[in-house]
Amino acid sequence: MKLLNLVEEQFQKGGVIEEHPFFREYLEVFNFNSDFSRKVGEIIENNYLESLQKEVGILLKEIEAVVPFWEKVGFGDFPGIITYVGDGAYDGHGIIIDGKPFAFFDMAVFGERKDMLSLKPWLLHELIHPIHYQLSPQFYPRNYKTAEDRYLKKMIVEGVATHITLQFFPGKDTYWSGFLDNDGVKRWKNYCEEQRDTLGEKIEDVVKMNCQDDMLFYKLFGIVDFEKLYQSRLGYYYGERIVDQIIKNYSFRELLQMDFSFFRERIKRYFGMDY
Ligand SMILES: [Zn+2]
Repeated sequence: MKLLNLVEEQFQKGGVIEEHPFFREYLEVFNFNSDFSRKVGEIIENNYLESLQKEVGILLKEIEAVVPFWEKVGFGDFPGIITYVGDGAYDGHGIIIDGKPFAFFDMAVFGERKDMLSLKPWLLHELIHPIHYQLSPQFYPRNYKTAEDRYLKKMIVEGVATHITLQFFPGKDTYWSGFLDNDGVKRWKNYCEEQRDTLGEKIEDVVKMNCQDDMLFYKLFGIVDFEKLYQSRLGYYYGERIVDQIIKNYSFRELLQMDFSFFRERIKRYFGMDY
C-alpha cells in the first residue's frame, strides 16, 4: 500500500503545502471554500501532531482490514492513500494525481468521527471512488463541464460506490456508514421516496437551464441540517437505486467502465424526466 502522509509536513508549515501535487489538485478540483488555507491553519493550531499521527496509524490498520473485501471486489491494486489535514469538507474521497488514483482522508475529521462510523464499509466506499475515476475519467470532477455532469455524474459516482459496498456490507447502516442507525435509515429511505418526484423536477430544471442550485446540491450530496440528517444526502439513495437496476448483467469492473450515456437513460426513466 502506497501511503503519502502529509500531516507532519503540514504541521511544520502551519497549514497547506501549496506546492504539493495533492493540494494543487485538491484546491483546483475539490475545494469550494475561499477560506480554506486559514481554516486548515486554525485546525492545525488546535490539534497535536502526535494525536493526528496516531489517527493515521489507526486508519491504516482499518484499511488493512478491508484488503480481503477489496480482493473480492476484484479491482486489482489498492489506490494510494493520502492522509492530510483539511478544512473538514470531506472525510474521505478519491483524487487523481498525475494519472494515478488515490483515496484521501482528512485526519482531523477522522479523529472526530471514527467512533461514529462503521469503518470498513466507509473505507471500501471511499476506496472505490479513485478507481472509478481512473477507469472512467468522464466521471472525475475535474472533467465536469455542465450542470448535468455536476448533479447526475456525481449521483452515479456515489451510487456506484454505495451499491458495491452494500454487496459486501448489506446492513442498512452501510448507506450512512453508521452515521444513522437502522431506524434513521428507514426514515431517510421513506423521505427519499417521498421527495423523488419533486427533486426529479428540480434536477431536470437545473440540467435544462445548465445552472447551479446550491441548496439542491447540498440536499442531494451534503448535509443541510444536522438536526434532520434524514433530509440529507438523497442523491446517494437515488444513485444506488439506479445502479441496482443496471448491475444484474454486469461485473463490478464493467460497472466502473460504463459510459455516462448508458446511465443517463436510466436516470431519466427513474425520475420520469424528458430533457
Ligand atoms: Zn462517496
